[in-house]
Amino acid sequence: IVSKNKAGVHVEEIDSLSQKSFPLCMRHLHQHLRANHHLKHGGRLQYGLFLKGIGLSLENAMRFWRAEFTRMMDVDKFEKEYAYNIRYNYGKEGKRTNYTPYSCLKIIMENVGAGDSHGCPFKHTDLSTLKQKLLGYGIPVAGVQQVADYVERGHYQIACGKYFELSHGMPAEAGINHPNQYFELSQKVLS
Ligand code: SF4
Repeated sequence: IVSKNKAGVHVEEIDSLSQKSFPLCMRHLHQHLRANHHLKHGGRLQYGLFLKGIGLSLENAMRFWRAEFTRMMDVDKFEKEYAYNIRYNYGKEGKRTNYTPYSCLKIIMENVGAGDSHGCPFKHTDLSTLKQKLLGYGIPVAGVQQVADYVERGHYQIACGKYFELSHGMPAEAGINHPNQYFELSQKVLS
């Protein structure tokens, strides 16, 4: 499933959308980007394609990434080293493939090393850090334990579905199989 918000998403909306409707993997990438003004290649791909999938135009993507990265590098460096990849994600460079956002399965299978911020937090974050994070997002202790039980049994997408249920007050009945599907479902529930 590749979701598409036809109305488009504005740069200014991303902070609030990330808190309300992003799955944990993308909320984590967004926070990391805001805190460090940088994401490594794997994170830029995973997050950049997700943002494209929720309807961020190439022009807005450029504005978004440039504003954040140029807080720790000059515009020249950004244009030389990073702008190409953003256009590439949108099929405007290289093979001109229209790349689609990654599914949960692909993200869960990613190689994630130390210092990387991409991947699926239910799989790639250590359990006590994950629990702290969920508590920090207002999930009650009993709910956090339910999520952790799924994680411990290797049911990462079911854990994600439980997190959706706990944060939206209703279950994701069809389950979670794609971050963009999570986003669409959340927007539908909250609208
Ligand atoms: Fe993201 Fe999918 Fe993991 Fe949920 S299960 S955090 S949507 S990769």
